Amino acid sequence: MTKQINKTIAIIGAGIAGLSCAARLKELGHHVELFEKGRSPAGRMSTKRGEDWTADHGTQYFTARDPLFIQQVEKWMADQVAAPWEPRLKVFEANQWTASHSKDIRYVGIPGMNAPAKQLAKDLTIHAGQTIDTLKRQEGKWFLHSAESGDIAARFDELLLAIPGPQALSLVRELDPAAKAITERSNMKGCWTLMARFKDNVNVPFDAAFVNQEIISWISRNLSKPKRTGKESWTIHANAEWSQEFIELSKEDATEQMLACAKKLGLDCAEDEVSVHRWRYASGTASPAPAFYLNHELKLGLCGDWLNGGRVEGAWLSGHLLANKVSS
Ligand SMILES: Cc1cc2nc3c(=O)[nH]c(=O)nc-3n(C[C@H](O)[C@H](O)[C@H](O)COP(=O)(O)OP(=O)(O)OC[C@H]3O[C@@H](n4cnc5c(N)ncnc54)[C@H](O)[C@@H]3O)c2cc1C
Repeated sequence: MTKQINKTIAIIGAGIAGLSCAARLKELGHHVELFEKGRSPAGRMSTKRGEDWTADHGTQYFTARDPLFIQQVEKWMADQVAAPWEPRLKVFEANQWTASHSKDIRYVGIPGMNAPAKQLAKDLTIHAGQTIDTLKRQEGKWFLHSAESGDIAARFDELLLAIPGPQALSLVRELDPAAKAITERSNMKGCWTLMARFKDNVNVPFDAAFVNQEIISWISRNLSKPKRTGKESWTIHANAEWSQEFIELSKEDATEQMLACAKKLGLDCAEDEVSVHRWRYASGTASPAPAFYLNHELKLGLCGDWLNGGRVEGAWLSGHLLANKVSS
């Protein structure tokens, strides 16, 4: 039997891909440290909290088809950090409302979308508030530099990037031509997101809707998800094409256009409190998408949704599969 060599591994990005990768590597006996530019883990599976409201402003729900991910979702449900969500779901198209016939089983984090990520993060070492901006390989080790703290003292055998392709590109372009080529193929689009808080409950006969042929593509009532409390809030996403084309709009202009469209859908937010979030890299994949990337010689890897289908399940799997490969 070959002896397992324990490695010291840095992972950049504590979204669901980085966390799944780290959790698996730790399970396999390696020493792992995550570096995350945000204040807390979860990335695009995040939840915004106000005084008396919450809103999932990134991921809306996730599905599970792969047996490995189904196992993970079952564990999250047993740990009470995820649950199925059964919204009254409609479709709006050509000014008409119809019922959605989608039979997907949808899951959400509870009490917020970030709960599964927080659960994975519990046993991991995460350096939050660290934007890694330079990487260097010297004498067989990786050295990291952070915008906030300068040189990171620890050095690592392996370095894994669990961040959107366009952000990974700027870090790997001078280091590895193959990684550069893959990240250049990542075709990610932005998403303008509006969060609307209502004084009173909104009287519409649905909890969520797919919207076609409008600048808005999705609306959902946060309180319809399990274990949510507080005031009525709705999450409103603009479609990927419109968002990408107008990603540089001012927040005020984006809000104005989305509010006009929301009114048409029965959500008149004129008298209510709204806030807007610009996701620069919301969705998209590399084509072809190899699930993950690993350069054995350089000991440099990439994982994330953009390498595996562009959704939560793909992101989780990408991280998990990369961890297995690093350890093999
Ligand atoms: C608006 C929106 C709606 C969505 N809806 C759905 C949905 O309904 N269903 C679904 O399955 N998926 C949905 N998705 C996609 C889903 O959120 C992603 O597929 C998944 O969360 C991606 O996880 P990830 O770990 O690959 O990347 P991310 O979650 O983006 O994680 C990357 C992390 O890296 C950090 N980071 C980046 N650069 C650096 C750096 N230089 N140094 C340190 N840290 C860095 C970021 O802060 C982030 O935390 C949606 C996404 C958005 C934005």
